[in-house]
Amino acid sequence: MMAASLQLEASLQLEEPWYVACASFDPEKQQMDIWVKVRDHAVFACPRCGLQAKRYGYEPYERSWRHADCLFFPCYVHCQRPKVLCGKCGLQQVNAPFERQNSRFTLMFEGYAMMILADIPRRKASRLLRCNEKSLASILSYWVNRAADKQDLSNVSKLALDETSKRRGHQYVTIAIDALEHKVIDVEDGRTKQAVAAVKVRLEQQGGSADNITAVTSDMSASFLPAVKEYFPQAEQVIDKFHVKQVLTKALDEVRKNEQGEVDDKKTLFQYRKLFMTRDDHMSEKQKHRYRTLSKTYPKTARAHRIVEALDIFYACTTVADASKRFKELYSWMRRCRLEPMKNAAVTLMNHRKEIMNYFHDRLTNAICEGINSLVQAAKRKARGFNTFEGFKAMIFLVAGKLELDAPAPF
Ligand SMILES: [Zn+2]
Repeated sequence: MMAASLQLEASLQLEEPWYVACASFDPEKQQMDIWVKVRDHAVFACPRCGLQAKRYGYEPYERSWRHADCLFFPCYVHCQRPKVLCGKCGLQQVNAPFERQNSRFTLMFEGYAMMILADIPRRKASRLLRCNEKSLASILSYWVNRAADKQDLSNVSKLALDETSKRRGHQYVTIAIDALEHKVIDVEDGRTKQAVAAVKVRLEQQGGSADNITAVTSDMSASFLPAVKEYFPQAEQVIDKFHVKQVLTKALDEVRKNEQGEVDDKKTLFQYRKLFMTRDDHMSEKQKHRYRTLSKTYPKTARAHRIVEALDIFYACTTVADASKRFKELYSWMRRCRLEPMKNAAVTLMNHRKEIMNYFHDRLTNAICEGINSLVQAAKRKARGFNTFEGFKAMIFLVAGKLELDAPAPF
């Protein structure tokens, strides 16, 4: 019993005057219970002023905290925490060394949960830890927010804004990325102007300045562009390649759907729709052959595909002059292609010509735009298991925030 109780004390990181009074297994509840007490004549630092003060009674009820499993059984720590009578502050409640205020979990459990959450999808983590999503989300948010709020943002000069949703079409969030450091610095609810304003607030609360932001890359969203202009007035606005391509592939898909509706054989085109999304130079010989046959049967989709291909040529330009020329050519081709969705896409591109062309202004912007989308996608995949904004946000931060977490390491 002696060795076991020493182990339990170590797992709770207890030190005198705290000690494990007893531990037992409850066969009915299938759980381990540990009771922690303090020595009768213990002296504590007053939680308010830090002066030494004598124990003076206990809180009226026993409290319980979930601790890490013990011999595969969920383990609970119970304690009636002491009070002290401080000469300066009067009667004060002392917190247990293993607790974080307002949490029903021990610090070690929280540290362990953070370790598991970093590597394992939420649902599985929830099962392994025998802990529901709400509790996991609140543990995660606490430690992540604590670290995120401490980040020094004074060097942020190039931002990328992106929007993502928990599920397709559901509750959007705005993600702000330090484009040079390649890390998420803020996640805000919604994709509105207010969300961009909130990004500025965080930036300035943590040492940064909106006036230091020289470039902001984003999609073509009607709320981002004017908001960036208002809140980051010094920044050059850039619409990145990924989002331009998205406009064209969406148009291509519409052309394909329309053509599918016009032909007798609807199956083949649907079956090979992915092939029309594949870049020419990424196709195998077999795929190329099939593509040639298909493009004879479905000339409209094939034409739209060639336009999307031409976008890659535009982005391969190395000078602004060259890119400008290519843009004009691409635009007039799209306008004349007799494919309604592509003609509309051309108008969208023209409306954002300036921001699209800004991509070619400096190589740095160019380079940092790459990879940001994959960062967002990776974060989003991991965060998807969370149904609340707080959980979703915390997971994005955990995956892509490069945070220095100070949750206690369980081992
Ligand atoms: Zn005091």
